[in-house]
Amino acid sequence: MRLNENLNRLSKSYLFTEIAKRVEEYRISNPDSVLINLGVGDYTLPLCDTVIKEMHKAVDDQSKKETFRGYGPEEGYLFLRNSVKNYYKTKGIDLEADEIFISDGANSDIGNVLELFSSDNPVLVPDPVYPAYVDANIIQGRKISYLDATIENEFLPDPPGEKIPSQIIYICSPNNPTGATYDQKQLQNFVDYALETDSVIMFDAAYEAFVSEEYLPSSIFQIPGAKKCAIEICSFSKIAGFTGVRCGYTVIPKKMTYEGFNINMLYKRRLAARFNGVSYISQVGAGAVFTKSGMTQVSENLDYFRKNAKVLSEALKKKGIFFTGAKNSPYVWFRCPYEMKSWEFFDFFLKKFGIVGTPGVGFGKNGENFFRLSSFGGTEETQLAAQRILQL
Ligand code: PLP
Repeated sequence: MRLNENLNRLSKSYLFTEIAKRVEEYRISNPDSVLINLGVGDYTLPLCDTVIKEMHKAVDDQSKKETFRGYGPEEGYLFLRNSVKNYYKTKGIDLEADEIFISDGANSDIGNVLELFSSDNPVLVPDPVYPAYVDANIIQGRKISYLDATIENEFLPDPPGEKIPSQIIYICSPNNPTGATYDQKQLQNFVDYALETDSVIMFDAAYEAFVSEEYLPSSIFQIPGAKKCAIEICSFSKIAGFTGVRCGYTVIPKKMTYEGFNINMLYKRRLAARFNGVSYISQVGAGAVFTKSGMTQVSENLDYFRKNAKVLSEALKKKGIFFTGAKNSPYVWFRCPYEMKSWEFFDFFLKKFGIVGTPGVGFGKNGENFFRLSSFGGTEETQLAAQRILQL
């Protein structure tokens, strides 16, 4: 039996597994130390009331013959696709419900949508960035090139000068880990480049809800021409804490054609072959996020995390440490003090202050000497972390 040899090309240790290992070693040798975990970007507030109430009702639906739901549509229930459509309307974007595919989260769809494209297509990934894009493409055997995101370009690289045809181009905005967020003009450059080169943009909008500066786009479809060349992948994880519930959505416009094929139709066909839909209960909960009370409650949660981000960034500012993010993102990305390397600083920060963060180099080579802190923790522990940063 021959295996998929691409799996052996993945980096040997997943970033968060290595962090967990080091934290565990620290815990064993320092059993009394109180750890502050600002490492993983996981939500720490409970699901909001409106979501919980609707999910309870959905559970009750499953208990009665008349309202029981078995297999649902693989592309998601129409009620949820309509809610997503109305959410996009608030951003000035007109979508049709059948351009929206409900998923069990952005991570799955990052890999799923790739099945639309041949493994011969080259891939362009910003560095540093969320590692799932690289991994998903390695598994499918594609050749990956990188767009350098550095201090010099404020972690927002432009499309390459060279016009390379038929690329799969990733954009993560607001970016994980740097928090850097593209403006209208910068995204227009990518859309123009994709249209010129017959490429496709994979726009990861997982952190769209954190965009707070009004002039910044929170969807690629706010950019003219994007409906011909972009797929948007999004999630209820970061807007509403669905990291455990699991629900997301992917938008594939019907205007998108490659080699004469409508890829919205192809994706629908692929889905029918590979997926039996997201749980009814999760979808009802997700629909509740976009109701009036749901939006009010998730906005309060987002403000809570924004305040945490501000507390961390204020401490860094006071110390004169260079940082990005915090404004339109739950992440604060800063240069390691004392010119330390990312993992060196990770160990130092953990041992000296009991704070767990994420070494920047885990997101790509340009992340070396940088460090990410998440604002998804509690207020108290974030304040404690800020006090400790001031002691640096
Ligand atoms: N995209 C980005 C940029 C992320 O940072 C994450 C998770 O941290 C995801 C996607 C995955 O989201 P989901 O929970 O919907 O799978």
